[in-house]
Amino acid sequence: MAVLEILKYPHAKLKKRCVEVEEIDEDVRKLIQDMTETMYDSNGVGLAASQVGDSRRVIVLDVSPIDPLHGLVALINPEIISEEEDIDHEEGCLSVPDCLEKIKRKLKVHVRGMSPEGRPVEFGAEGILAIALQHEIDHINGILILDRISGLKRNLYRDKLKKKKKEEEG
Ligand SMILES: [Zn+2]
Repeated sequence: MAVLEILKYPHAKLKKRCVEVEEIDEDVRKLIQDMTETMYDSNGVGLAASQVGDSRRVIVLDVSPIDPLHGLVALINPEIISEEEDIDHEEGCLSVPDCLEKIKRKLKVHVRGMSPEGRPVEFGAEGILAIALQHEIDHINGILILDRISGLKRNLYRDKLKKKKKEEEG
């Protein structure tokens, strides 16, 4: 297992739509292991393959620090098949440092995908797990939380990044 580098906005790979996994083999399972280790290493509750520069539709989540009822979830080719109830949820992202914004999400989703063992899985999720699933599935579609906030807030964030970069450069 290995801790991978997490790409940060505005890296171009974060904007790319990831491709379906055709065959679930050892290579995919190794990616899942590395992503899991990377997620835990950075104290995240979710990670998508695009965040570590991989273009496959793979996500891992573990929302147990917020909701101990749930453990590690790894999904290949995940998709939301139904959703209900609007909610505004304050979110951050490992790829968008120093950004915490209210995002419009659904409180409940129904998701399907494949397990790392290659089995089809389908389940309903509610609350933080549902929100984390939407956040990670956004990632593999090339969508960041910055794409879900107002243009004004996005510009403020960009300005903040520029300022930070200048300060770091001295
Ligand atoms: Zn994220």
